[in-house]
Amino acid sequence: MELAKRVLSLTPSSTLAITAKAKELKEQGKDVIGLGAGEPDFNTPQHILDAAFQSMNEGHTKYTPSAGLPTLKQAISKKFEMDQGLIYEPNEIIVTNGAKHALYTLFQVLLNDGDEVIIPTPYWVSYPEQVKLAGGVPVYIEGLEENQFKITPEQLKKAITNKTKAVIINSPSNPTGVIYTAEELLELGKICLEENILIVSDEIYEKLVYGNAKHVSIAQLSPELKEQTIIINGVSKSHSMTGWRIGYAAGNSQIIKAMTNLASHSTSNPTTTAQYAAIAAYNGPQEPVETMRQAFEERLEIVYKKLTAIPGFTCVKPQGAFYLYPNVKQAAINTGFENVDDFAKALLVEANVAVIPGSGFGTPDNIRLSYATSLEQLEKAISRIHQFVESKM
Ligand code: PLP
Repeated sequence: MELAKRVLSLTPSSTLAITAKAKELKEQGKDVIGLGAGEPDFNTPQHILDAAFQSMNEGHTKYTPSAGLPTLKQAISKKFEMDQGLIYEPNEIIVTNGAKHALYTLFQVLLNDGDEVIIPTPYWVSYPEQVKLAGGVPVYIEGLEENQFKITPEQLKKAITNKTKAVIINSPSNPTGVIYTAEELLELGKICLEENILIVSDEIYEKLVYGNAKHVSIAQLSPELKEQTIIINGVSKSHSMTGWRIGYAAGNSQIIKAMTNLASHSTSNPTTTAQYAAIAAYNGPQEPVETMRQAFEERLEIVYKKLTAIPGFTCVKPQGAFYLYPNVKQAAINTGFENVDDFAKALLVEANVAVIPGSGFGTPDNIRLSYATSLEQLEKAISRIHQFVESKM
C-alpha cells in the first residue's frame, strides 16, 4: 500500500533511534548508560498519584470538554497569574495531550501550504516535522554558539518574507538549556509586532532554571506581545509527568477555538484521569518541583566541570532544562572520526554511553547529553567518554 506523501517526508526522531539502539545493546547484556532521555528520572509526586486514584474512585472516568476540564483551566489560569502576572480567560486556554500535541494542533490550524515558520537552530526535533505535516515550510535561523545559540533581531528580520506566519521561541531551550533575557525577547518581539508574526513560545522547561537565570515569558512584556503570542506549556517536565500527557496552549481565543474544534474531531479530550492529576499538580504543594529542580542544578554543576575537562569538548553553560550540548567537533577530529555522528555511534558501541548526535537538532558538531539520570551514573558515563577520547588520541 502506498502511504501518504506527508508521512513519507517525515524524518524519524533521532532521539528515538539512538535510544532503540542503546536498548538493543542493553538486551545483549552490555552495561550501557543512556544519556538520551528527555524526561525527569523522578516518579510523579505522591499527592498527584493520589489525586488521580481518587478521581477514578469518585467515578470521573468519562469524557470531558474537548479543551479540558474547567477546573484544570482555572488551575492553569491561576498559575499564569502567579508566575507571570498574565490573565487568561477559560476561552483562551486549551488543554492537550502533552505540549507536543498543543504544538501539533496549533500548526494544523495556523498554516496553509507554503506558509513559513521561522525555527532557530539548534531546535527541538519535532518543530520542523510538525510544521511540514501542516503543509508549512520551516525556515531556519542559525543560533550561533558564540552568541550562546541565541538568534539576534537582525537575523530574525532577514529571515522574514511575505510568507512568514510564525516564529518559535523555546526558552529554556532543548537542546542547549539557554535562556533568553527579557531585553532580548523584547527586541525580537518588537520585530514580530511590526511584521505581524505570531510568536509560538514553548515554555515547557520554565520551572527548570538555575543560578541567577530567570525565566521570562515574552507574553508578559507588554499587552501587545501577549496578544501576539501563543504560550505552550505543560506538566511533563515541571512535575515529572511525561507519561500522563498533559500540556496546554494559551493565547488568542480565535486560535484556541479552532484548536478546540480540531481536537474535538481527533482526540475528543486529554485523558480524564491525567487531567485530574494535573489539577493536583498545579493546586497542590509545589515543594516537589523545587526539590527536583535542585537535584538537576546539583548535577549540572558537577557534570559540566567534568565534561568540559574532556579534550576537544567545549560547552555553552546551560541555564535551564536538563541537557548539556557540547561542541565535540575537535574531539571527533582528534580521535579520527569523519564527523560527530560517527563519533556518537562509537561512544555507544565502544564506550557504552548513549548520547544524541546534534545533527537531529540542526547543528551537526554537537551532541546532547541529558542529566536526567543519577549522579553516580552520570559521573561514570562522563569518565567513560573521557577515557574513550584519551585512548584514541
Ligand atoms: N517542547 C520541548 C522543547 C520539549 O523538549 C518537549 C519534550 O521533550 C516538548 C515540547 C513536549 O512535551 P510533552 O511531553 O508535554 O508533549
